[in-house]
Amino acid sequence: MKKLGKNRDDQKRSNWGLVLRLLATGRCSSRIDLAKATGLTKATITQIVGDMISQGIVEEAEKEVRSEIGRHPTKLVISGRAPKVIGVLIDRAYCAAVLCDLNMNVLSRSEVRKEWSDKEDLMDNVFRLVDDLLETKQCVIAIGVASVGPVNTGEGMIVNPFYFHDIHDLPVKRLLEERYSLPVFFDHDNQCAVLAESLYGNGKNYQDMLLVSVARGVGCGIIVQGHRIHSAYGYAPEIGHVSIDHMGEKCSCGNRGCLEMYTNSDTILKKLRLATGEKLDYAGFMARSEEKAVDGVMQECIGNLVIGLISVMNILNTQLILLGGDCCAWPDRYIRQIEEEVNRLKFGNKNIRIPVRKTFFLYDSQLFGAACHAVNAMFNGELSGPVMRETPVGA
Ligand SMILES: [Zn+2]
Repeated sequence: MKKLGKNRDDQKRSNWGLVLRLLATGRCSSRIDLAKATGLTKATITQIVGDMISQGIVEEAEKEVRSEIGRHPTKLVISGRAPKVIGVLIDRAYCAAVLCDLNMNVLSRSEVRKEWSDKEDLMDNVFRLVDDLLETKQCVIAIGVASVGPVNTGEGMIVNPFYFHDIHDLPVKRLLEERYSLPVFFDHDNQCAVLAESLYGNGKNYQDMLLVSVARGVGCGIIVQGHRIHSAYGYAPEIGHVSIDHMGEKCSCGNRGCLEMYTNSDTILKKLRLATGEKLDYAGFMARSEEKAVDGVMQECIGNLVIGLISVMNILNTQLILLGGDCCAWPDRYIRQIEEEVNRLKFGNKNIRIPVRKTFFLYDSQLFGAACHAVNAMFNGELSGPVMRETPVGA
């Protein structure tokens, strides 16, 4: 059962993680910035930073300089000796792993594309990718996993995704923890993606955001008041199976007229090939979106996507919409068109314009999101060990 109260040590870890997050994500770069941003006393910040320096997590990049135009505070940066994280993305016919530092710089990356024959085949490939990254001999503190859904985050399990080669009930978290003896943090691919965008990407300055990713499936990640939402049973939100037509075709989920059926990339690609008689790939067609036949298919897709976005928008009143996956190949005018439509049709907050943007990490939001899931555990003070030594309680 999750603890509701905070003990003195929890408070220490929480302040420690907050300071690390502000430095690692570039929001603060000096002790003075940190004191202002956190409201902690200068003495407390000095002790936390001193602790991080002694542990090799943070270092001083420049000494304090005094000149006629004033004092320049000592700049703090994440040390090259700081722990690293591994992010793993599990998709329907694709798996990737990335080794990142706490600034989300990539140190190493590997990937494999294939249709998985069964659970064992999938996990063999995941293990091989992680093994390769661990051979770099970096100090890895945790592994984050982003997976195609539905997933059960409480159990760390892939439940039963569609078009997933009949793989279901796969306890990925447990299997990775058993093999590597490292903490593993597991979540839905788009819940990880929205985390990456909120920490390091285009969602940095927002508390509420909706990320929608269009690919073979259509999924979403949601942050409300700075927190990703999950149900008490550990399930993530699924925009793809929000119906936009109750009289529509029957979906494989049993419902009718699900958004995913009208906007997923396989269906759109088939329509584009039929409309043009050409065999280009999705990005190839997007490069020719000025052509009437291509634009006609995309206008229908955008119209359907907007209906789904409005349904979610009217429930959440989110501050920002991010579009990822194959939307990253769309011309910018489609993104602007969606922004216009969403703001015209949304019910509440008529005076506030909601921006619609592509994801900062483009096609890699989910993969970086996996790494961010592990880093975020440090920021939340969830990782115990040598990095959490004595620091004072915040003032
Ligand atoms: Zn459905």
